[in-house]
Amino acid sequence: MKAAVWKGNNKFEVEEVPQPEIPPGGMLVKVSACGICGSDLVKMRDGIVQPPVVLGHEVSGVIAELAAGEHHQFKEGDAVVVGHHAPCGICHYCRHDSPSMCSQFKSTNIYPGGFAEYFATGGENLAKATFKHNVSHPLAAITEPVACCLRSVHRCKVYPGDTAWVVGAGFIGLLMTQILVRRGLQVVATDLDESRLAMAREFGASAAFPARSRKAINAIMELSDGRGADLIVQTAGTSASYEGTLRYIRDGGIINVFSSVPRRDRLTVDLNQIYYRDITVIGSYSPAPQDMAEALRLITTREIAVEPLITHRVGLDAVGDAVEAIYRRECLKAVVVL
Ligand SMILES: [Zn+2]
Ligand SMILES: [Zn+2]
Repeated sequence: MKAAVWKGNNKFEVEEVPQPEIPPGGMLVKVSACGICGSDLVKMRDGIVQPPVVLGHEVSGVIAELAAGEHHQFKEGDAVVVGHHAPCGICHYCRHDSPSMCSQFKSTNIYPGGFAEYFATGGENLAKATFKHNVSHPLAAITEPVACCLRSVHRCKVYPGDTAWVVGAGFIGLLMTQILVRRGLQVVATDLDESRLAMAREFGASAAFPARSRKAINAIMELSDGRGADLIVQTAGTSASYEGTLRYIRDGGIINVFSSVPRRDRLTVDLNQIYYRDITVIGSYSPAPQDMAEALRLITTREIAVEPLITHRVGLDAVGDAVEAIYRRECLKAVVVL
């Protein structure tokens, strides 16, 4: 089968690779679409993976083959979204609402990755992280990132009418904006790029202004009766952008850490601010299966618009070009379509 193999830098080559063996109780899926995720770029940039490797984990496809003798709701030919990690559901982490910290979650995967004609995955993913769908594959491929955002918001205690500052109106920021607006929050979005701010307004943001502009701060203060944001969602940036936002969180507010930062980037925080001002800092990494199901439902019913966010649809032979377009900030979301 063919796969787009990462060869170092932003270079990918389509090569013939062996079709993966089906792990016990698992399945082989013919890939129809796979999103290119910011985390794929981080894995390459920060040396978390080494070339040659097949990346891609935001997958939608069709079941090509199921391991024999299994009894479940799936059959060959089903269109499915497959989470690349599957929690066990019974360990300490799973029972304490930290499914992405489960050892089974971390050890399960899809093989070799989503930028390929086929991937295989084990019985754990089939049982816990596979969802049938009837929506177009490129839209379904967006399930995992939407699910990441949903879980992150579920973890924040916010109420209708609250004011949220979404820092960064890229693909994730625009998903976050939609999710928070649906929950009745007033969203102020900031970004460097005017076209992204325009989209944030279209998705219901109460205000959207260039990053670091006084207007954004004024909007947050006005919407919150001078208290500051109830919630700050950091979808982009560095420690400097965190420092720039901290003073605008209200007493008792929540800071949602939802992006990786460059390695070795450190934040210096006045802990008394956290203590005396009752600030909550929440990290959220990866979704739970129920978030995947909810995300797929919201995409299917169009309650969350993902189509306008897909700016690039490319073949396996253009993964590298799409990655470069992402770095040039020309691309909101690229999906590899097979
Ligand atoms: Zn992803
Ligand atoms: Zn577990």
